[in-house]
Amino acid sequence: AKLKGRNNYCIYEQEMNQANEEALLIENHLRKAIDNNELELFFQPKMDLSTRQINGMEALLRWNSPMFGNIPPDKFIPIAEDTGLIIKIDNWVIERACEQNKEWNSSWYSSPLRVAVNISPLHFRLPNFHNVIENVLEKTGLDPNLLEIEITENSFIDHIEECIECLNKLRNMGITVAIDDFGKGYSSLNYLRKFPIHSLKIDRSFIHEVAKNREDIAIVKAITYLAHELNLKVVAEGIETREVIEVLEEIGCDEIQGYYVSRPLPKKEFEAIYRRLPYQ
Ligand code: C2E
Ligand code: CA
Ligand code: CA
Ligand code: CA
Repeated sequence: AKLKGRNNYCIYEQEMNQANEEALLIENHLRKAIDNNELELFFQPKMDLSTRQINGMEALLRWNSPMFGNIPPDKFIPIAEDTGLIIKIDNWVIERACEQNKEWNSSWYSSPLRVAVNISPLHFRLPNFHNVIENVLEKTGLDPNLLEIEITENSFIDHIEECIECLNKLRNMGITVAIDDFGKGYSSLNYLRKFPIHSLKIDRSFIHEVAKNREDIAIVKAITYLAHELNLKVVAEGIETREVIEVLEEIGCDEIQGYYVSRPLPKKEFEAIYRRLPYQ
């Protein structure tokens, strides 16, 4: 038994080393990815559930690496966060998303489109974060009302006062803020009272089976009720079936996003589909 324990320990250590080496390798390539033009934004539409209009989209990062192929963001974002590279990446995403949205809103789309970008907690807590946003808006000329920021609950874990200050500055600029993956982490209802936010994005783990599962219905109903009482919008993500849409409509959810409406699309495909739609 002793021997087995030792062996297991060795295997564990070996795996750890392999994981570290892999992370290091990814980091080295990621460092050059921006300059080498390997990053791309995909756009996933958001639909207003009452009007069925596409009123915005979430920008989602894609990395096509000559070394590794397509690496999902769930794999490289955590490495970028650990190494601080995320600041440079987030900045690239914000600028690219604003630039693209400015173009779409001034050319072909018939009603305003709001673009949402994901901001890492590390970046959001930098004291000059609002300046970064301000500069990009100035540079791209995008209306601040057409930019939304998605942050997760763990962005708030410490530095509460600084977070509130930053959120106030963003709000004063006209930017909207959504809490992403709501309910997934160690949520605290405390910040709902204190923080100037605009919407809750219910995590897709609660949405996935909401048409079949009593507990999930209860949770989504309760979140929606709470959000509306607090004057917040409710967005559901991860909608994959028509049944789920019907349940969410009955519950009174405001916006939906998911494969059923559309997968995240590269710029060209997004344009090909949405410039044709007769939305007025
Ligand atoms: P997220 O912010 O929760 O983004 C939603 C994820 O759900 C996306 O995965 C999207 O493709 C996926 N999704 C959308 N609809 C459905 C559906 O109906 N069913 C299922 N099963 N999944 C759906 P993706 O693009 O792989 O991104 C994963 C995560 O990586 C994101 O989760 C976000 O946390 C992070 N991420 C992506 N882009 C960025 C970025 O530009 N900056 C930062 N900091 N993080 C990013
Ligand atoms: Ca998000
Ligand atoms: Ca999410
Ligand atoms: Ca997430």
